[in-house]
Amino acid sequence: MIKSIAVMTSGGDSPGMNAASRAVVRTALFTGAKVWGINNGYHGLLEEDMFEMQSKNVGDIIQRGGTFLGTARCRRWQTPEGRMQGYKNLVDRGIQGLVVIGGDGSLRGAELLSQETGFPIVGLPGTIDNDVWGTDYTIGCDTAANTIIDAINKLRDTASAHRRAIVLEVMGRSSGWLAMTAGISGGAEYILVPEEEYDLDEIAKEMKASYDAGKRYIMIVVAEGAGSGKKIGQELWEKSGIDTRVSILGYVQRGGSPSVIDRVKASMLGESAALAILSGLSDIVFGFQKGNVVSINLHDAVTNKKHLDPDLIHLAKVLA
Ligand code: ADP
Repeated sequence: MIKSIAVMTSGGDSPGMNAASRAVVRTALFTGAKVWGINNGYHGLLEEDMFEMQSKNVGDIIQRGGTFLGTARCRRWQTPEGRMQGYKNLVDRGIQGLVVIGGDGSLRGAELLSQETGFPIVGLPGTIDNDVWGTDYTIGCDTAANTIIDAINKLRDTASAHRRAIVLEVMGRSSGWLAMTAGISGGAEYILVPEEEYDLDEIAKEMKASYDAGKRYIMIVVAEGAGSGKKIGQELWEKSGIDTRVSILGYVQRGGSPSVIDRVKASMLGESAALAILSGLSDIVFGFQKGNVVSINLHDAVTNKKHLDPDLIHLAKVLA
C-alpha cells in the first residue's frame, strides 16, 4: 500500500504546472496519504531539497505561471550514479512513488529511474510545445498559443498600417504544433513548421501577387525549428521587394497566468496521476485523447515521435 509520494516539475516550465502540482498534492492529502514537494526538479532531489506538503502549501498558486516548485536542468541525473543517489534520497524519507511533471527529457529521466531501481513513476506531460507522443495535449500549450495570438493581433495592426509583411518566430524546436495552432487561430497567411517543406521563392512570388492585388499586410508564423525567422524575413524581403519585419517572441511564450483550459486539464491530470501512483501503478504518463484523460505507456511516450496532425496542415493551407 503506497502511503507517501512526491511530486516535482522538471525541464522547461509551462503555465499550468502549478495547477497540476496542486492537484497531485490535494488529491493525495484527500486520500490520507503523505505528499512531498521536490524543489528544482532532479537537481533538488539530488540536493535533498524537498519538504512534506500540506494543503496550504499549494494555496494561491493555480493562477500563477511558472512553477512554484521551481525547475532545473540537471546533468548528474543523466548518470546511473546520480539516479541511484536520487533513489536513495526518496527511499530514506519513506517516499514510495514519484510524479514527474515535465517534457520528454524529464520523462526519459524518470523512465531510467524506474528501469534501474524499480521505483514507481507516473509522468505528466508539461511543455508548451505539445510534442509528447500519445497525448493530444500537454500542460501549458493552450496558454502559450493564446500568448502568440495576442502577439499576432498586435503585429497585424502595425503591419496593416504600414503595408508590411511580418515574420513572427515562435517556439517549437522540433514541433510545429504551437506555430500551426496559433497561426490558424490568428489568421496567418503562411505557417512554416519543421514538419513541412516550404519554398521561399514561391512564397515571395505569392506575396508580391497579393500585394499587387491590394493586400495591406501578410503574416508569416515560423516555428523556430523551421528556420531562423530573421533569415527568412530577410530573404522574403529581398525576393518579394515587400517591406518585411521580423519579430521573435521568445520566452514571453513560456510565462503568464494559465488559461482556463490549462488550469482544468492540468488539474484533471494531476488528480489522475496521484490516484494512479497511490494505487500502485507505475511507468505511465497521463494525457488526453479526444477530450478524455488516458494513460499512456511511459516507454512508448518517450520513444515515439509525435507527428503534427496532417489535417491541421491542410486546414492552414485552405484558410490562408
Ligand atoms: P524537458 O523535460 O522540458 O524536455 P530537458 O530535456 O532539458 O527538458 O530535461 C530536463 C532534465 O531531465 C535534464 O536536465 C536531465 O536531468 C533529465 N533528462 C533529460 N534527458 C535525459 C536522459 N536521456 N537521461 C536521463 N535524464 C534525462
